[in-house]
Amino acid sequence: HPPVNPTLNEADSPFDLALRPANFDDFHGQTKVKEQLLVMVQAAKMRGEPLDHALLCGPPGLGKTTLANLIASSVGSKLHTTSGPQIERAGDLAGILTNLQERDILFIDEIHRLHPSIEEYLYPAIEDFRLDIIIDQGPKARTIRIDLPPFTLVGATTRAGMLTAPMRSRFGIPNRLDYYTVEELQHIIMRSGRLLAVPIEEDGALEIARRSRGTPRIANHLLRWVRDYAQVKAQSVVTQDVAHHALTMRDIDETGLDEMDKRFLEALIHKFDGGPVGLNSVAVAVGEDASTLEDVHEPYLVMQGFIKRTPRGRVAMPAAYRKLGLVPPVSGQA
Ligand code: ATP
Repeated sequence: HPPVNPTLNEADSPFDLALRPANFDDFHGQTKVKEQLLVMVQAAKMRGEPLDHALLCGPPGLGKTTLANLIASSVGSKLHTTSGPQIERAGDLAGILTNLQERDILFIDEIHRLHPSIEEYLYPAIEDFRLDIIIDQGPKARTIRIDLPPFTLVGATTRAGMLTAPMRSRFGIPNRLDYYTVEELQHIIMRSGRLLAVPIEEDGALEIARRSRGTPRIANHLLRWVRDYAQVKAQSVVTQDVAHHALTMRDIDETGLDEMDKRFLEALIHKFDGGPVGLNSVAVAVGEDASTLEDVHEPYLVMQGFIKRTPRGRVAMPAAYRKLGLVPPVSGQA
């Protein structure tokens, strides 16, 4: 059985794929991003041109890959998927680009992790649909130019801020995905329940939604555990009570915080007196990469009002103290 609280970056399982919305109507939430993408798709169709390049930003598990698939299917294009760290050499990129057909969509996940030298090759490819590659070395080195068919690049990143300026300027306005509301997640869980033929009550879905950390991928994984629990212990119907017991049994937090979120708050309060403290110090204290804390954990903690980012560092808010069963300091930073 996969972990109930999945690492947010895990590869898609067949289970994830089965629940992935197959058209924009099935994709619930992210209304603004959806509308923007639909305009882009329609404009391209009306002009009979390839789609503009697009950038999707936001924390993991919110639907970037799903949206890339939907963009491709809505214009009837083929999607080629890769990721920044997978493209190690210019030759890798050349191989990918020369395989594209006209109007295909190239999806590069974690595009902020592309090597700078690879980025240099990518610019002319997405601007003028040409690739200049240098072959041979020393005096025999020469550049050959390969013309590419017009294609669309869809980039995804957890960190718009880490994209190089030239890269950012080559995309239009970034599409920012936000954490889902509890109601949106409830809707998504009800849909997943139907697809998996799990009898689930609205209240049961709500209970799961509250603990899903604003993230559909987590919601679906929690549903999977609750389904098992319901089957074994409760004549298979997922009621609120059943969901509550199932999730409590696995120590799934009532506000959706995961282990690392909690360690972040504990370190901030117990080791750094509630802050302000620099992110790198927190990272050392909790034994996690600073960039993972910044991409995955902080945005949720900020959104939930547990911490605040200030120019002097991270500060614990009263809600963080209460979360740990402590009394917030009366005055001062919190
Ligand atoms: P990563 O960047 O880590 O790959 P992601 O943002 O690309 O994450 P997806 O893989 O697209 O996330 O989505 C994760 C899972 O969540 C999908 O399998 C899909 O089933 C589900 N999901 C995402 N968004 C929605 C949505 N709006 N409605 C229903 N299900 C969704």
